[in-house]
Amino acid sequence: MNPNQFHPVFTIAALALMPTVGVSCARPAPPRTDFVMGTVCTINLGKKGTEKLYDEAFARLRVLDALLSANSETGNVAEINAGAGLKPVRAAEETLTVLSTALEFSEATNGAFDPTIGPLVKLWGIGLGSERVPPRGEIDQALALAGYRKVDVNRTAGTVYLPEPGMRLDLGAIAKGYAADEIARLLSSRGITSGIIDLGGNILAMGEKAPGKPWTVGIRDPQTSQGGAVMSLQVANRSVVTSGIYERFFEENGRHYHHILDPSTGFPAENELLSVTIISPQSIQADALSTSAFLLGTERGLELVSRYPDTEAVFVDRDLGVRTSEGLRGRVTALDPRFVLHDDD
Ligand code: ADP
Ligand code: MG
Repeated sequence: MNPNQFHPVFTIAALALMPTVGVSCARPAPPRTDFVMGTVCTINLGKKGTEKLYDEAFARLRVLDALLSANSETGNVAEINAGAGLKPVRAAEETLTVLSTALEFSEATNGAFDPTIGPLVKLWGIGLGSERVPPRGEIDQALALAGYRKVDVNRTAGTVYLPEPGMRLDLGAIAKGYAADEIARLLSSRGITSGIIDLGGNILAMGEKAPGKPWTVGIRDPQTSQGGAVMSLQVANRSVVTSGIYERFFEENGRHYHHILDPSTGFPAENELLSVTIISPQSIQADALSTSAFLLGTERGLELVSRYPDTEAVFVDRDLGVRTSEGLRGRVTALDPRFVLHDDD
């Protein structure tokens, strides 16, 4: 057989195929934004982004949201809450991991961070559309139900038991961090080494932006919920998470009430802080620490952060003074002159 006979056919077929193949390889899928976990989430994988990867990542986010949300009707945390005072409930591996980590932070903060604060969170209704300043009596009732030491986690049986009727877990201060880590693990297993996972401002920067080039992450103006970046820092392979008084809040009679509640008062935590940003290799840790450090205030917060390896923090106070952990000295750039970096003390 003369191979030349087939040559023209091959050439035509190849020409017909090449443009389509070429286009689908060259053009990545655009970054994907969707509303999940009660917030706006964006995943950006740059040139490596495909519709399939984004589909997979968002599907996983929806599963985690359903599992871990206290407000879902059918999720695992909702089931555990429904079993309060009745029976131990089977807990998913994900729930056990997140709850155990949350309880470690409760220990580390002497109970300031408390995932059993659910009844109080529900009572205040901040961000749930039912916000109001509750009567003192109801606050006291909700507080009486809280107490992280009461939670019975049985790792062997794989169950969680809340011993008093009305007790309620709320993993809202840590779930997004865990979800970001999970998405990063999923994407890594698909060969992704670089990208941004942004779950409502809970950022995980995978790898570097380009070889040898870190990501630049902004810290938003903590005095408003819509502000632009007032500081920036460069990171690689780090999660950057902020907790502050303008993330979710309402105003009543000229007073500002935000969503990080102090279990010792039953009211939004009040101290010198506007916000705390944590930079850490793990997003679950960054998320739990940002809420914890906010609750503890600057001095005790800095001390807590220093116990975690490779973990740094930026504290912004109500006078717009900025304190950072030691490892960040000279590495935060103020983009707005109203914010004053106290690097010397
Ligand atoms: P965001 O959800 O805006 O990222 P945080 O991570 O700081 O903010 O978490 C705040 C959420 O954590 C609240 O909406 C509530 O669900 C829950 N929460 C409030 N107070 C506490 C607390 N003292 N300990 C643990 N969780 C809390
Ligand atoms: Mg948090």
